[in-house]
Amino acid sequence: MQLKDAQQVDVVVVGAGNAAMCAAFAAQDAGASVMVLERAPEAECGGNSAFTGGATRFAFKNVEEVREVLDLTDEEVANTDFGTYTEEEFLEDMGRVTQYRCDPDLTELFVRNSRKTLAWMKSKGVRFDAMWARQSQKVGGKVKFYAGLIGATWGAGQGLVDSLHKIAKKNGIPVLYEAAATELIYENGEVRGVVAEAQGKTLRRRAGAVVLACGGFESNAEMRARYLGPNWDLAKVRGTRFNMGDGIRMALAVGAMPFGHWSGAHAVGWDLNAPPFGEREIGDLFQKHSYPFGIMVNANGERFVDEGADFRNYTYAKYGVEILKQPGMFAWQIFDSKVNHLLRDEYRIRKITKAEAPTLEALVTKLEGVNAERCLKTIAEYNKAVRQDVAFNPVILDGRGTTGLAIPKSNWANVLDTPPFHAYAITCGITFTFGGVRVSPRAAVQSVAGHDVPGLFAAGEMVGGLFYFNYPSGTGLVSGAVFGRIAGTEAARHARTKPATAVKKRDHAE
Ligand SMILES: Cc1cc2nc3c(=O)[nH]c(=O)nc-3n(C[C@H](O)[C@H](O)[C@H](O)COP(=O)(O)OP(=O)(O)OC[C@H]3O[C@@H](n4cnc5c(N)ncnc54)[C@H](O)[C@@H]3O)c2cc1C
Repeated sequence: MQLKDAQQVDVVVVGAGNAAMCAAFAAQDAGASVMVLERAPEAECGGNSAFTGGATRFAFKNVEEVREVLDLTDEEVANTDFGTYTEEEFLEDMGRVTQYRCDPDLTELFVRNSRKTLAWMKSKGVRFDAMWARQSQKVGGKVKFYAGLIGATWGAGQGLVDSLHKIAKKNGIPVLYEAAATELIYENGEVRGVVAEAQGKTLRRRAGAVVLACGGFESNAEMRARYLGPNWDLAKVRGTRFNMGDGIRMALAVGAMPFGHWSGAHAVGWDLNAPPFGEREIGDLFQKHSYPFGIMVNANGERFVDEGADFRNYTYAKYGVEILKQPGMFAWQIFDSKVNHLLRDEYRIRKITKAEAPTLEALVTKLEGVNAERCLKTIAEYNKAVRQDVAFNPVILDGRGTTGLAIPKSNWANVLDTPPFHAYAITCGITFTFGGVRVSPRAAVQSVAGHDVPGLFAAGEMVGGLFYFNYPSGTGLVSGAVFGRIAGTEAARHARTKPATAVKKRDHAE
């Protein structure tokens, strides 16, 4: 859409990622006219949502509930053990990984609405498949899923964003690209619209309600250093370059309550030589998540985490922070050839920082920046400590750990003995920030005084209070969808009490 075509609407949605588009669909469903403002040009729209693997976690009790979301053939159902993942298990995972700090009301809301909301997205035209390659293994003739997560959007994040924008187009929801919201119009204690720098002009767009769904501050080096701490400005950004914390800043400027883990972020092991921001063609493939089947060493040649503490779904998002803390902010993951078949697809891309050698002695000399002698000693100590009396099983917490090491490996420990040996250099890649604003269960932004900021709603990454220290994989998209849907519905309801036509005269582009 061009700026000159921007019509008066009831609800303005800021951002064009997953949470924003869900908000726009829901506002339209509730009878409101809607417009979406997107800071990025059309070719780069969709924020972090476009960079995802599309993983979507939801609660289900049986295969019928699985089929409410995933497109599956009868044959696939017959050959697969999806297990169950109840709302209680999902709630427990959220509590456990966040050290029981996640806001109970908001968490319960998105967990209990997870499947229903994804089914609603499906009814709009978004398609979901089982996450075959990354979340299942063949065991005894049957495909078995593990660790709660079974679903993903078709075509991963780019497929999701493409279909969200196709649906918006079909339903006549206009998206104004290259339109960066800069401030909220705030009069007499109410939000009455938004100001944006749009296609080279200043647009003052008055509206009955505004939904902010424009991400966290992960792309902003200054804010990362300020809130997350030293060296976070040096982390690589896994996704979009457009999430600069604008939505949080705009909301705080009208008195919104800061909420959640402001010094915390989702961050992972990410290729050492990846570019400073995400690359669309690569998506999430610079990540290196198969460390539970090997070991990780730092520049001193020493291990620094329990690589097998839990399924990677529950450790990967907190281990980026640990890598950032290591000397030089890097690590190497080391594997032998026994586990080649277990390594995820991201280990087979062309843009990869990899070393390979026929012996461990030769390998350690190839690990740039690492004390080779110490590293060899670490591997020898680790190999000696592996428990041989417990069977290896990648789809359960197998308890095949180490004994006597200062930093144990609790599961999936195998002796590194099968050549060729291979290793991968990683650094810290930030995914998104955990701090944000406080919202009510109606997704209404809360003021520091403890009431709704009238006319202002928020969804997605910029909602604080859901994630602390860590994150269960596949939760960002679904929580964004749940709060986006609620925010859109409630914004439309609010806008009905503030008809856009009543403010039409004052709406203009400068
Ligand atoms: C590499 C990677 C892989 C991931 N994998 C998964 C996964 O598999 N499953 C999962 O659940 N989560 C995953 N995540 C996390 C997930 O991306 C986020 O939780 C989710 O996409 C956030 O959605 P959102 O709509 O809040 O933000 P975004 O999708 O980032 O959208 C924010 C939007 O706001 C726009 N914007 C920013 N500032 C302004 C402004 N001032 N004015 C107008 N527009 C603005 C941006 O351009 C963007 O369109 C991954 C993230 C990354 C980076």
